[in-house]
Amino acid sequence: MNAKDYMDREARYGAHNYHPLPVVLERGEGIFVWDTDGKRYFDFLSAYSAVNQGHCHPKIVKAMTDQAHKLALTSRAFYNDVLGEWEEFVTHYFGYDKVLPMNTGAEADETALKLCRKWAYMKKGIPDGEAKIIVCDGNFHGRTITIVSLSNDPESYGGYGPFTPGFIRIPYNDIPALEKALEDPHVAGFLVEPIQGEAGVYVPDEGYLRKAFELCKAHKVLFMADEVQTGIARTGKLLACDHEGVRPDVLILGKALGGGMMPVSCVLADDEIMLCIRPGEHGSTFGGNPIAAKVSIAALEVVRDEKLAENAENLGKIFREKIRQIPSDRIDLVRGKGLLNAVVIKPKNGKTAWDVCLKMRDKGLLAKPTHQHIIRFAPPLVINKVELMQAIGLIENTFAELD
Ligand SMILES: *Cc1c(COP(=O)(O)O)cnc(C)c1O
Repeated sequence: MNAKDYMDREARYGAHNYHPLPVVLERGEGIFVWDTDGKRYFDFLSAYSAVNQGHCHPKIVKAMTDQAHKLALTSRAFYNDVLGEWEEFVTHYFGYDKVLPMNTGAEADETALKLCRKWAYMKKGIPDGEAKIIVCDGNFHGRTITIVSLSNDPESYGGYGPFTPGFIRIPYNDIPALEKALEDPHVAGFLVEPIQGEAGVYVPDEGYLRKAFELCKAHKVLFMADEVQTGIARTGKLLACDHEGVRPDVLILGKALGGGMMPVSCVLADDEIMLCIRPGEHGSTFGGNPIAAKVSIAALEVVRDEKLAENAENLGKIFREKIRQIPSDRIDLVRGKGLLNAVVIKPKNGKTAWDVCLKMRDKGLLAKPTHQHIIRFAPPLVINKVELMQAIGLIENTFAELD
């Protein structure tokens, strides 16, 4: 089979809910992936930041296969000898009383929303069924019905109504709007991405998260950070909220929590909040399974032992500086934090971000446009400076040839 055969087969038998860049991958190692013809690429998407630790990290593969040979799934109907180890490790690692394991980011966001509503009725005294949660324009929290109910992107919510009520949407990075929304005494929570990844790596003004957090405190409203994409060292700190010294009341993690190996997500909170959910009131068959637990511990150890946050911080500065120096009028601006960056493309001669990505693919670097004119650059955090400079060279050549 050649590349076209693989793509045709997916189009023939798979639902058409994605529009992949035409490249068929069969192997990955560290920052590189290889296609079915043996061509090597720098991976500058990292599966939307799920592969922060690099592809098939040997330590994570070992944790996974060792546990797979021993015990893979018990459900939560019984105890097992691994879940508690993970819970202790993760709560200490992030500094919370309790953790609730799920699988995908969307499930963790749903969990946070349910937890917030429960807390509103049990602790804040909001009348039953009246709790409201504030969300932001441009948000991306996943694909379930409730989560697309929060979205103002017609691609996400269009045709999927009726929608879940109980949400107030305000502009992102807008403190006065938040202040106003918080006047409603039935507000229980504020759900926010510290940087909006899917929207195109929108970095809010410095101090926004801090001020938002303080306003939430003043109104007895839970500050809930969706760090599914920004967390686990991606932006140069363990959490993007760490840049402003904010400790969310409810922390939502996913993606790289599973080390690029399997879906692992979770919600972290202190007892006062987390214990509002009682036995039988929420759960997941696969959430916190023994393989996920072992994989996730290894994934977080790699982040710590290999100092991936520091690496992301240092190399991110170099990346933005070098890309800003590219003399191309196709580049509108470069923004980001750590190794979560975006380049905003000005279309020229009918060539868009998609064409730039095709050209980069030909040169051996994979990235994907988000929202037509934005390209996200997010390599695995195990990349080193020499490799980063090589990749930047490919990006430079791409723009030089397009001009
Ligand atoms: C990817 C993402 C999600 C959804 O995660 P899934 O595992 O795809 O369900 C939620 N929130 C943010 C910020 C994300 O980037």
